[in-house]
This record gives sequence, C-alpha cells and structure tokens, in this order.
Amino acid sequence: NRQIRLAARPVGEVKADDWEHRSEPVEEPGLGCFVGRTRMISLDPAMRGWLDDRPSYLPPVGIGEVMRAGSVIEVTASQHPEYRPGDQVVGTFGVQEYVVSDGKGAVKIDTSLAPPSTYLGALGMPGMTAYFGLLDVGALKEGETVVVSGAAGAVGTMVGQIAKAKGCRVVGIAGGPDKCALLTDELGFDAAIDYRAEDVRKALRREAPDGIDVYFDNVGGDILDAALTRLAMHARVVVCGAISQYNNETPVKGPSNYLTLLVRRARMEGFVVFDYAKQYARAAQEISAWIEDGRIKVKEHVVRGTVDDFPETLQMLFRGENVGKLVLELA
Ligand code: NDP
Repeated sequence: NRQIRLAARPVGEVKADDWEHRSEPVEEPGLGCFVGRTRMISLDPAMRGWLDDRPSYLPPVGIGEVMRAGSVIEVTASQHPEYRPGDQVVGTFGVQEYVVSDGKGAVKIDTSLAPPSTYLGALGMPGMTAYFGLLDVGALKEGETVVVSGAAGAVGTMVGQIAKAKGCRVVGIAGGPDKCALLTDELGFDAAIDYRAEDVRKALRREAPDGIDVYFDNVGGDILDAALTRLAMHARVVVCGAISQYNNETPVKGPSNYLTLLVRRARMEGFVVFDYAKQYARAAQEISAWIEDGRIKVKEHVVRGTVDDFPETLQMLFRGENVGKLVLELA
C-alpha cells in the first residue's frame, strides 16, 4: 500500500522532502470495516493550511501521518453490513492506494449518474462551497453584480455559473487569456479580467460600473483590495479563501482599505463549507439539475498517475496550472 505521509512542516512553498513516500502491507478489513482501492484523489488549496501547526477548523496533519485528502475509492473487501465489493465511495481517505474504513464520514456514490471526479468537484466539496458561499453567506439576489476571483478554478467556475443561473451579472478574475476566454466563451460569464495582464482596479471600474454587490474571494491579497474599492451599497464580501497568501512566510496581508465596508455599509463574512454538511444533499440535487439542463458545465482537470505524483500535482494549484477541479486519477 503506497502512501504519502507528512515528513516535515513546510516553510513557505511545500518542498519534495516535506513528504515521505512509503509502502505498507495492505490490511484485511476487521469486523464492521471495509477495504477500498483509491481511484481518484482530490487536490485542494486548503491542504496547504492543514500542514501548518496552528489552530484552524481542523487539526493539522501530524508529522508521520498519511496526508489528509478527499478521494473516491472502490470497495475491494468488506466485513461491513452496508458496503460490498464494487461499491464506489467518497470520503476523507487520505493519499494512499488502499484504505481501511469503518464507514464513518463515507458516502456511497452512483457513478452511473456522474463520473467519480464530479463527486469531488461540482457535486462535492467545491460545488457545495460555491453554492452555500454564494447563496447563504453572499445572500445573492437576482439582477445583482457578482465578482469572483480564482474564477477558472473548481470553486470559481461553479460560483460564476450558479450566479448566472440565478440571473446575475458575473465578472470573473483569473490568470491568463485562455482561462479568461473559457469563462466568457464557454461558461457564460459576462466578463473576465486577466489579473496578470490588466490593472484589476481599472478593469473592475469598466466591468462593474455600478459597483459589486457580491465579491466572492478565493485569493485575498491585492485582488481583494481592488474589489473592496468598488463595493456597491450593502455589498457582501464572501471570504472563501486566500490562496495568494497560503505560502507566505510573512503574516497574511490584510485589506488596506477595509473602511470601504463602512462607507458602503457592506459586510465581510467567512465560512467553512463543512458547517453545511446536513444540507449537501439538497444542494447536490439542485446542482445536478443545472448540469442536466446545461446551465452548469463541469470543468475538471484530471492528472493520471500514482500516489507518488501527489506532491507535484498539488503544486499545480499554486502555479495556476489547473482549469476547474484538479484530481489525481490512479492508474
Ligand atoms: P482552484 O481550482 O481555484 O485552484 C487554485 C487557483 O488559484 C489556481 O488555478 C490559480 O488560478 C489561483 N491562484 C494560485 N495562486 C494565486 C495567486 N497568488 N493569486 C491569485 N490566484 C492564484 O482551487 P479551489 O477552487 O479548490 O479553491 C479555491 C479557493 O476556495 C481556495 O482559496 C480554497 O482555499 C477555498 N476553499 C474554501 C472552502 C471553505 O469552506 N471556505 C472550501 C473549499 C475551498 P489562476 O491561474 O487564475 O491564478
């Protein structure tokens, strides 16, 4: 059983020797447990935060532990009454080829309805994050102007398309002309801003002339500052993540112009998607319907390899090399 374990706490960018590649014998399932073979591993920016030894919404991954990760597995042997060989299951099973589970936190999926990768993306954690972040925290209303950063990523592509399905004007911010073309030409965004090539402040003045009602922030840093300058009255700023800050060796850069919240009577609120777990099924139903009627297009970036490719694949998120949901499919 090939596994990726945390060898050392990274400082700044994660390096190859922060990981240990190990092989262990595959265990047999005890009574009430099943064994599964990993098919697909989810890569998430949040993983960077789980490596730091500081208080957060989950405890850090311990040194020597198998790296925490969401994945889809196929049950290969079972002594659990509810699981049979061949069942496809999603859960937090870690970066390893085989896992023994008692079923806690595991959910059976129907891969005849959607491919396994989609249960890690549009119908999984990123889809839920977009849905509840936008509709609950962002309290989105029809006809409003929504701006989302990290727009061509797993969460961002869903945020923009859900906002379009709800009748909003949507502006995406992403890196590079190809990602921007994808947003407007394929995913139905009204406009896209290439933050690597354009001055985001100026571009927002052009694309959101009446101000931003909901800013969905995936990146933090300078882009957050630029969005704050253009808030409309009673705007909502959804603090989903701040990937531009995750590899910092210095303190996180806070907004320098937060007093626009005061002037615009705006609100800025963070959230953790796991708090909505009881409502996932309802959201997944609505998202499935949008996928079916073509209002949402699923964007996935599948890398094929082995668990040993996990460290390199994770770095793709921080280099902007993924389009849509990044997953590692095991050969
Ligand atoms: P993505 O698929 O969006 O991948 C990350 C993207 O971030 C890259 O493709 C890249 O796109 C962009 N990026 C990387 N570095 C920078 C930078 N320095 N400045 C600006 N953009 C950068 O990841 P996810 O959709 O999975 O996650 C998006 C955000 O949502 C993250 O911040 C994550 O932590 C957060 N999140 C929060 C949850 C919650 O419960 N609050 C749950 C799930 C995710 P580009 O080429 O455009 O730069």
